[in-house]
Amino acid sequence: MPELITRRTPIGISACVYGCPVRYNGKSFDVLGAMGREKADFAFTPVCPECMAGLGVPRDPIHLTGTGQEVLLGEAKLKTRRGHEVTDQLIAGSRVCLETLQRAGVRAMIVKEASPSCGVYKARVGKRRTESSEGSGVFGAMLLETGWFLIPDNALSNPLLWWDWRRRLHAWLWLSDRTIEGARDLFDAWHVVKFIVQETDRPLADELGRALAALPKNPGAEVLTSLRLRMLDALRKPSTRSRIAGWMLKTYKHHAKSGTLDGVDLHDLTLDSPEFRANVMTLAAELTLLERISFENDLLFGTSPVIYREGRRVKARDEMREPSHLPQETDEEL
Ligand code: SF4
Repeated sequence: MPELITRRTPIGISACVYGCPVRYNGKSFDVLGAMGREKADFAFTPVCPECMAGLGVPRDPIHLTGTGQEVLLGEAKLKTRRGHEVTDQLIAGSRVCLETLQRAGVRAMIVKEASPSCGVYKARVGKRRTESSEGSGVFGAMLLETGWFLIPDNALSNPLLWWDWRRRLHAWLWLSDRTIEGARDLFDAWHVVKFIVQETDRPLADELGRALAALPKNPGAEVLTSLRLRMLDALRKPSTRSRIAGWMLKTYKHHAKSGTLDGVDLHDLTLDSPEFRANVMTLAAELTLLERISFENDLLFGTSPVIYREGRRVKARDEMREPSHLPQETDEEL
């Protein structure tokens, strides 16, 4: 049985990739176009630190003289193309955005990468693009400090990438909210999310499994928190197409072998064919369908152990299963 999230997820997003024309040149992108009706599963809060800095649209593009982290430490600056310094304004604008997101209850955000403001895993320093280990934009550096789940805008550029980010986001939110009071709670939570980590990083999954097994009977709160944080970090790691397809096939075979498919249409998969593996659109569509069928039939689809289902859809399913909840005809009505 997958774990369920039934509350619409509040999510922040860089305003320019939400379709708001706030870029320095007055343009925008619409990265959510591919989500279709799934957009309704999230409550978006678009923010633009450069607008909140009061820089206006259109404006001169800005650049970093060091990383966003260095700017926050006072070791680097932000300048416009004409050499005008805007460091303090951008820090103030970023803080306003952060406060807005906190007010909205956001713990996950879609960020515009390669921006000196919003970039998290990549930012442009001078004429050079940084990679994750080298630093972020200014707002990106603040976001990293929050410990939130940060999604690069290119995650929405193809359906399979997005499927992977979305399932890890849901597992991450579920694990963040889980009450963990003892080793047993943490062990049970790990049992739910471990399938994802086993797929994305087997050695790390084994290491976490060993750390859990070695926990004393009554570990302190600090030990539990630190292990939970490691598990949350592990869920941030993206997967690859071949790993996803491999695990999908494995899950299907597992159900087929264990007989849990009895009478259940788990779809007529042709996963072994090279055409299927090469086509991300088909693969993403199959995964989404499998999630739905597994949910409706109480089957564990290990690669998506936590899914979002609107509260009323869960209620409708449960009522269908329990005929005793349906209104009964009485003799008087007959
Ligand atoms: S990347 Fe961030 S700061 Fe730049 S336009 Fe987009 S939302 Fe605004």
